[in-house]
Amino acid sequence: MTLRRLPENLINQIAAGEVIERPASVIKELVENSLDAGARRIHVTIRNSGIAFLSVSDDGCGMNADELRLAVERHCTSKLPDNDLIHITTLGFRGEALPSIGAVARLRLVSRQVNSDSAWEIEVITSKISSVKPAAHSSGTLIEMRDLFFATPARLKFLKHPTTERHHVTDVLRRLAMVRPEVAFSLNDGTRDIFRYSQVQGDLFSARLDRLRAIMGRDFADNALPVNAAREDISLTGYISLPTLNRSNARMQFLFVNDRPVRDKLLTGAVRGAYQDVLASDRHPLLALFLEVPSDFVDVNVHPAKMEVRFRDAGLIRGLIVGALRQTLIQAGHRASSNLSTAALGAARPEGSAPLSPMARHSQRRATIPTAVRSSGYLNEQSTPFHTTLLPNLDQSPTAPPQASEIKEENDCSNAYPLGVARAQVHATYIIAQTMDGIIIVDQHAAHERLIQAKIEQDLTKQGIARQSLLIPEVVELDEADVRRLANRTHELAELGMVLEAFGNGAVVVREIPALLGEIDIKSLVHDLADDLAELDETITLKDRLNKVCAIMACHNSVRAGRCLNAEEMNALLRQMEATPLSGQCSHGRPTYVELKLADIERLFGRR
Ligand code: ADP
Ligand code: MG
Repeated sequence: MTLRRLPENLINQIAAGEVIERPASVIKELVENSLDAGARRIHVTIRNSGIAFLSVSDDGCGMNADELRLAVERHCTSKLPDNDLIHITTLGFRGEALPSIGAVARLRLVSRQVNSDSAWEIEVITSKISSVKPAAHSSGTLIEMRDLFFATPARLKFLKHPTTERHHVTDVLRRLAMVRPEVAFSLNDGTRDIFRYSQVQGDLFSARLDRLRAIMGRDFADNALPVNAAREDISLTGYISLPTLNRSNARMQFLFVNDRPVRDKLLTGAVRGAYQDVLASDRHPLLALFLEVPSDFVDVNVHPAKMEVRFRDAGLIRGLIVGALRQTLIQAGHRASSNLSTAALGAARPEGSAPLSPMARHSQRRATIPTAVRSSGYLNEQSTPFHTTLLPNLDQSPTAPPQASEIKEENDCSNAYPLGVARAQVHATYIIAQTMDGIIIVDQHAAHERLIQAKIEQDLTKQGIARQSLLIPEVVELDEADVRRLANRTHELAELGMVLEAFGNGAVVVREIPALLGEIDIKSLVHDLADDLAELDETITLKDRLNKVCAIMACHNSVRAGRCLNAEEMNALLRQMEATPLSGQCSHGRPTYVELKLADIERLFGRR
């Protein structure tokens, strides 16, 4: 065996293995370079999902002949000017991407600097660098890559089906486009545009919402709540969907840390925690959240291509996310998403009739928008926060229902209540209410379940948790680490109604449990608690568990579908819904009501 220095092309190939996994990783590196170069327009073309060919062209600062030559060499970068790895402000900094791509494909760069009249090109084929030649090109940079992994057939075999690779390309580009709404992005597959997002202007919130509408769809934009929170020097902004707009997977959840797309268990766990009162555990909200933290608070250096991050204080981040999302959802009041009525109308509309106008759908906005956003004027339609203007007596519960006689009058106060006045109950399950400009159909069981849950939670915070002693204390066997974890938290657990203590090394003994749990399987509860503690060492998960229990109790205690209600009962239910945060959906994320605007109904009958 001889000890020797590896040839440069081998070093490059090894480095490429780290960074370049698939066409999408090439595109990510190239587009990030374009963004770092200050581009305002970025066009991406792919053929055969980017495996046979891909190109990225931009209108950024460009490179001169010398810079082109350096750009394709390893560890050459124009970034990191102060050799400071802590305060990184650009997307790239390693000087590895271009030589890595050049090691595993045919690479061609053409560039012209902004104020120069000559363009230059250079080629790299499996790390062999050509000389720089004059070329014809407008200002900016065009980078073309052909035949990815052509010299390393083994790597080629690891690529997935072209459809999957194409999906990765789209996903990577969309995430970058979410971060930079002021930059135009397009993706073309050689025959047609897969998407084209134009530049959007305006303040952060409105520009972002416009870009998110283009990427995530109109339903999302119409039913998204702005998030705007800060703690110390950490901030969280973005948009989250009303719980009634949800999906069976988390693919429409986009998370960014300091403008980098990330996939992170801690962050997705926090999102789940925030929605768990209002959404079934197998449903997922749609969202785009942008976390900004000081650069010394997070380690983005973990891996160049993977989307992992490491936080210095994970508990602080989780607390901020759960708190901010819950607050945002609570401020949305009883609002349920407008796509529901659209869906209902879509089902009812005769074939071939005109789709709803965007205005009809927009007019359903009634969320309480935080001041920061309202003043930006991005939503100057109906953003009246009805909680304060229409229902001044929120604290006097139950809110007095209108007298039964009012129900018969034609011109009653239906316009004073967002959820209107009850007109009828049908199939002993649905309440039909008349509002100023439409009708509302309430699912009485879902609505009542939500109200009871809110009541139990309120009691919990006001009076603390009633405990119930066990006649025979229950011994639960656990492994040592779990016993230690639980024993360290006996004080908090007691506050939540669980009184237990260590019982030797391998067990705990439970003496009291929260009274509201009734007859439960104590062993499985203790095991679940221990698991939660092991996973995330925080009390918040314990409290969350109790909320879950509240939801289960509420479901068992609420008005069943099939019970007849009188007018007074129906109106009382409507008024309580208006006064109860999050009442637009039950704890499983099903809507508690659907609203049909008069205009939509008229359209349904061809009156408009
Ligand atoms: P890094 O981005 O880490 O610096 P790269 O290998 O991705 O490393 O790029 C090397 C250098 O090439 C960059 O630092 C930059 O100076 C230059 N460069 C790459 N792409 C572009 C572009 N589209 N426009 C202008 N300069 C670019
Ligand atoms: Mg780079």
